[in-house]
Amino acid sequence: MAGFTITRFRCGSCDGDGMLFSRPGTTCTWCAGAGKLPRAQALRQAETFYALASGGYIAGDHSLDECRQEERRANAVYAAFGVVPPWKQTSGRAA
Ligand SMILES: [Zn+2]
Repeated sequence: MAGFTITRFRCGSCDGDGMLFSRPGTTCTWCAGAGKLPRAQALRQAETFYALASGGYIAGDHSLDECRQEERRANAVYAAFGVVPPWKQTSGRAA
């Protein structure tokens, strides 16, 4: 085990700058402008974005490449915290 613990992760909604890309001048609603999310919120965001990745692809909002990119990012967030994502758990539903 590494000698450090990750407690926060760069916000995937604003990519760390604290502002919404889609609405300039508006504070990011995920991180409230902090640019980083604490563990539980980062995992919740990753799970949300993972679902939106395939949902958005099916709906035609973005390409399969963008879908896979978002899925990889979500997996990376879970990996950084040493948590198995719900979509990779084999024991049924997530607790
Ligand atoms: Zn943010």
